[in-house]
Amino acid sequence: MSSVPPEQVNSQYKDMSSMFNQQNPAASASSSKPAGDDSKPPLPKGVVLDKDGKPCRTCTSVASWRALTKQADLKSANSNSTSTPTSSTSKMTTPTAGLAAAATPSPSETPSDCPPDVEELGRSTWTLLHSMAATYPEKADAEHQANMSGFLKFFSKLYPCWVCADDFRAWMAHPSGRNQPKLGSRKEFGWWMCEAHNEVNRKLGKKEFDCRLWEERWRTGWKDGRCD
Ligand SMILES: Cc1cc2nc3c(=O)[nH]c(=O)nc-3n(C[C@H](O)[C@H](O)[C@H](O)COP(=O)(O)OP(=O)(O)OC[C@H]3O[C@@H](n4cnc5c(N)ncnc54)[C@H](O)[C@@H]3O)c2cc1C
Repeated sequence: MSSVPPEQVNSQYKDMSSMFNQQNPAASASSSKPAGDDSKPPLPKGVVLDKDGKPCRTCTSVASWRALTKQADLKSANSNSTSTPTSSTSKMTTPTAGLAAAATPSPSETPSDCPPDVEELGRSTWTLLHSMAATYPEKADAEHQANMSGFLKFFSKLYPCWVCADDFRAWMAHPSGRNQPKLGSRKEFGWWMCEAHNEVNRKLGKKEFDCRLWEERWRTGWKDGRCD
């Protein structure tokens, strides 16, 4: 167990962005170093910055986040070891370096009470979105359609992974109008949600889901009875 007090770990996270070369959020998934600045290491691959320039945990995978915290720990351990040692700095440094060196659990062992990364947030959100489709009226009246339309509009602006939200909004706003939410009935809306999810699956290089099966997956349970 690390003996680093929580406030010290938190301030380490808060200050991490100043230890790395900043990236333009638009090019956030890249780890390339901006030209002309060799003083800071590049951000590890896959780390996405928030619009305020700080690392965005809900936009980044656990693996990339860990690479970032390790790099920050090493950098802070190195800078402390090259400065004049005093009893107070060595007290501060040792547990922090110990935190970096401690056996890091693999992503599958991440404690369940940690903040979500982009994947955990995504899985939970898809569960909510598909469940909203599964419980949508078979035939939706105008008020229900307007409520869902409003929800999707705000959702696509407020989703905590901002790069995900930007892409999702752009997909919905395709100039042809073909990706606008289909809200007339549960079948339409469930299919639309499945297509929206498949758009993200394709972007991430994942297998597409067969949308003919969305109701079995999210509403009725599978025909083999394993969900009964
Ligand atoms: C709106 C939105 C945008 C996102 N954008 C990004 C992004 O830009 N970059 C990024 O890294 N992550 C993004 N994510 C997260 C990403 O989609 C995944 O949730 C995450 O990568 C975890 O994937 P997973 O393989 O565990 O399963 P998930 O994709 O989370 O799927 C969960 C379960 O849903 C079922 N499922 C899969 N596809 C479909 C489908 N088409 N229809 C119905 N059910 C399906 C499967 O049973 C699957 O196990 C986004 C999430 C959301 C909600």
